[in-house]
Amino acid sequence: MQSSTNIRLVNLPILFDALHIDTLPADIQAKIARVDACLPQTQCGLCEHPDGCLPYAAAIVLDGEPYNKCVPGGQPVTNAIAQTLDIDTLDTTLTAVPSQWPIDATSERPTEVRAVIREDDCIGCTKCIPACPVDAIVGTGKHMHTIFTDLCTGCELCIAPCPVDCIDLVTIEREISEPERIAEQEDLRQRYHTHLKRVTEQLADTSNSRPVVSMVEAKLNNAASQSLNISESQAKNTIAAAKLRTKIKKLEKQLSVRANDKKQAELESLQAELESLQVAL
Ligand code: SF4
Ligand code: SF4
Ligand code: SF4
Repeated sequence: MQSSTNIRLVNLPILFDALHIDTLPADIQAKIARVDACLPQTQCGLCEHPDGCLPYAAAIVLDGEPYNKCVPGGQPVTNAIAQTLDIDTLDTTLTAVPSQWPIDATSERPTEVRAVIREDDCIGCTKCIPACPVDAIVGTGKHMHTIFTDLCTGCELCIAPCPVDCIDLVTIEREISEPERIAEQEDLRQRYHTHLKRVTEQLADTSNSRPVVSMVEAKLNNAASQSLNISESQAKNTIAAAKLRTKIKKLEKQLSVRANDKKQAELESLQAELESLQVAL
C-alpha cells in the first residue's frame, strides 16, 4: 500500500522519468518525499536544479548533494531538511546559501517577492507565459499580459524572457502558519505538475504550432521522445491520448454546429479509444 509520504511521488510528469524514482527502494522513496515536503515548491531552479524542487530533493538523498541550497527556503528549510536527514545537532547543520533579498524577521526566510507586469509597456509577445511554472500569467498574442499575484510564487523565471523588461518584482510581507504553508506547498507542487502535463500534451499536438518554447518545454519534449523507448506504457500512451483529445475536441466542435452521422460515429470510436488508453495510463 502507498504510504502517505509517498503520495506526492505518484503519477509524476514525464519530466521526472529520468530520476527513475519508482525503481528505488521504498525507504529511499520515502526519504525523497520527506525532503521534497520541506521544500517551498517555488520551482525557481536557484538550487541549480532547473527542473524544480523534486530533482533537488532526489539529488540530496541519492547523490549526497548539500542540503543548504534552497535560496527561497533560507535557513528554516535547511534546518528542516537536516532534521529529516537526522542531522539533528545545530552545530553540524549547514548555513543556508544567501539570497539577494533580506531576511524577513517573522518567517526568518528571505523576503518573498511577487512579479508585476507594467501593463502599459507590455507588447503582448507571450514569451513570459511558458516560463511560468505555475501558470500565473494570462494573456494572448499582441495583447497586454497580467499576472495573478495570488498564484505567483516570485520564482523570477518570467523576468529574463521579457524582451522589453516590463516585469517588476515587488516584495511582500505576510504571516503564514505552518499548516497554511504546508497546504500552499502541496498546491504549488500540484500546479507545477499540472503545468508540466499540460505542456506535454501541447507538445504532442502537432496541429498547434508553438513558436515560443521554454527551457523546461524543450526538456519535456526530449523526455517524451526518450520515454518512447523507456516506458511505452506511459509516455507513448500520454502522447497518443493527447492527440486523440485534440481530434475529439475538433469533432465535438463541428458536431455542435451541424449533425453528421459519419462524424458522430467517428467521435464515439475515438472516445472509446481514449477511454481504453486512459485506463492504461
Ligand atoms: S524552491 Fe528551493 S528547492 Fe525548489 S527549485 Fe527553488 S531553490 Fe530549488
Ligand atoms: S509570474 Fe513570474 S515570478 Fe510569478 S510564478 Fe510565474 S514566472 Fe514566477
Ligand atoms: S514577456 Fe514581457 S512583453 Fe512579452 S507578454 Fe510577457 S510581460 Fe508582455
